[in-house]
Amino acid sequence: MTTGQCLCTAVRFSLAVEPRFFYRCHCSLCRKQTGVGHNLATLVNARDFRWDAGQASISSWVKPGGYRNDFCAQCGSTVPNPLRGSTYVWIPLGLLDEDLSVQCAGDFCVDDAMSWDTQRSASSHHGSVESLGDLVQELRVNGD
Ligand SMILES: [Zn+2]
Ligand SMILES: [Zn+2]
Repeated sequence: MTTGQCLCTAVRFSLAVEPRFFYRCHCSLCRKQTGVGHNLATLVNARDFRWDAGQASISSWVKPGGYRNDFCAQCGSTVPNPLRGSTYVWIPLGLLDEDLSVQCAGDFCVDDAMSWDTQRSASSHHGSVESLGDLVQELRVNGD
């Protein structure tokens, strides 16, 4: 069991699995979303995800085109969001309480990275995530 919560602890969730891989995206949207050089996130199968508290505190911002940021309306932390039209839930890794043993499976949108954002994994992609299926495979997410 892996637990996570937002900055103010209103929004809480748990995972039935321990993620083993994460990815980084260096695009301009992910920079704005996080306030730093890249986001750092993983996916879990929806059946391995559970809200424990605070769903009513979640606000959602969706950009035309689909980019979505769900966040705690009280503290502003980005929180998990169910990926539209899929059976996966997107998890911002920094919300997890335990210090998991995880590795970076890939960096995306490295062409958009700021020059001061220099961290890269062995698997660096010039563009964005090609497809959800590819990402699920790279992250070795539990299948259905
Ligand atoms: Zn909060
Ligand atoms: Zn991005």
